[in-house]
Amino acid sequence: YANAPPSLREFWLSTAGHGDNEYLVYRDERCTYRQAHAFTASIANWLSVNGVQPGDRVAIAMRNYPEWMLAYWAITSMGAVVVGMNAWWVAREMHFGLEDATPKVLIADAERLQRFTDIRDDFPGLKVVGVRIDHDLPAWATDWYELINAPAEMPEASVDPDDDACIFYTSGTTGKPKGAQLTHRGCVTNLLNVAFVNSVQPAALALARGESPGGQSAPAAPSALIATPLFHVTANNCVAHAVTLTGGKMVHMYKWDPAEALRLIEAEKITAFTAVPMMAREIMMHPDFATRDTSSLQSIGGGGAAMQPDLVAKVGENMRGARPNTGYGMTETCGIIAAVSAEFFVDRPTSVGRALPTLEARCVDPSGEPLPTGDIGELVVRGAPVIKGYLNRPDATAETIVDGWLHTGDIAYMDEDGFIYLVDRAKDMVLRGGENVYCAEVENALFHHPAVAECVAFAVPDERLGEEVGAAVYLAPGEHVDAAGLREHCKEHIAPFKVPRYLWFVDQPLPRNANGKFVKRDLREQLRVEDAS
Ligand code: ATP
Ligand code: MG
Repeated sequence: YANAPPSLREFWLSTAGHGDNEYLVYRDERCTYRQAHAFTASIANWLSVNGVQPGDRVAIAMRNYPEWMLAYWAITSMGAVVVGMNAWWVAREMHFGLEDATPKVLIADAERLQRFTDIRDDFPGLKVVGVRIDHDLPAWATDWYELINAPAEMPEASVDPDDDACIFYTSGTTGKPKGAQLTHRGCVTNLLNVAFVNSVQPAALALARGESPGGQSAPAAPSALIATPLFHVTANNCVAHAVTLTGGKMVHMYKWDPAEALRLIEAEKITAFTAVPMMAREIMMHPDFATRDTSSLQSIGGGGAAMQPDLVAKVGENMRGARPNTGYGMTETCGIIAAVSAEFFVDRPTSVGRALPTLEARCVDPSGEPLPTGDIGELVVRGAPVIKGYLNRPDATAETIVDGWLHTGDIAYMDEDGFIYLVDRAKDMVLRGGENVYCAEVENALFHHPAVAECVAFAVPDERLGEEVGAAVYLAPGEHVDAAGLREHCKEHIAPFKVPRYLWFVDQPLPRNANGKFVKRDLREQLRVEDAS
């Protein structure tokens, strides 16, 4: 992308041209691009007057309020660095994030401000801004209104493409979250990548059908439902940035609720629903799905976790013309590595698509040697979207980025056409005797059973084989199947050695993190072998 804006500052300033288009929508509050640009100039001005210099960090600890985006564009445009604090973090975890990222200012909503109060003594120099504070604002905090009422003059700043734009923490699915340093170049490349897949894949499909590619192009004013947290790359770097590029609007959800999502899709004429697969499933299973008008939807899907093959088919059949899609990516690539949609996806529901043109991707053996097409190994990627490293973690950085190649920790293979198939996370693989069992394969087999609502497979230590296959299953309300029945069912799909030796039937939905991903390590700690069936 030779003519890409060099930084998020140039990018954001260029979107002032969207003028009176609606931009941020939250409940009955609406804000245009023109207003958003005035707000961001005021916020950046206030931060600058209050001592924030280019390169300094400013933390945002907030749910999905419109203030999130305003703060984000203000901070990145003035050359300062956003620290995206996970809104689910309790005080102790906030303490870790603040100590790790050492921001100069913390912008927090009421609940996060409350949590911070308990740890405030440890951060005496930190300036705190309170957003949507419903009780009295503590004397040590500044009201957000002061920021948006400062003179609307964006400070000058020269931002280098390789400067940090933000620190986002990984989801913490496999361990303690790490602070990834996303550069301006990485974020801008990713947003253009997302725009590319949003427009090029539909155009390619139209051509394949013999239609004019223009006929399938994106609508003039796209609108996206922001259903996943803005402190992760899916909502922020993929959805929000791409919507901003095209002058569309973002409709914020404070928390996930499928009935409310369906109401908003109808009322706000949402064109793109990009979230985690679980949310797409919940929308289609909801009783309101039959009566709500979802005809504005052009795509439904998301990323962050595998979209189960049955779900791809269901979206293809039931979504009244909306394209199923998925994006495979990670915090460490500022967003997507590969993506696939529509018939391309329906035809290959277990693939996550082809790598984007700005990335090189290949599968390697444990010594880092590239593997022949079709062989299974760790996926490594190289290119502009790869992060600089992990904050304060030179060890983890050196382990993960080797000679410019980012080790994704995902085990995959690629077919002749370059489509990538993920088979498991390296850390999740079950090493059973001499055989590797991929959890995703076991989960897909379990999922095929109509009574299974949720399931995860994982390794259970075993004296004889090293590890054995275990799985926790949550049955759909009113459904029933016993362990023997489920094992019989699995045997129709996978080899006997892959069939879970340990099965736990749990009576509540499985634990997930803020990104809607199952947290296997929590489960492993909770479940005892004696209680398995
Ligand atoms: P941590 O690195 O802290 O353990 P995490 O890897 O879940 O957490 P993220 O950066 O949010 O943190 O997620 C990236 C990972 O999510 C990828 O490495 C991959 O395993 C998984 N993933 C992302 N998109 C998809 C997808 N479309 N299909 C399957 N898996 C996906
Ligand atoms: Mg990871």
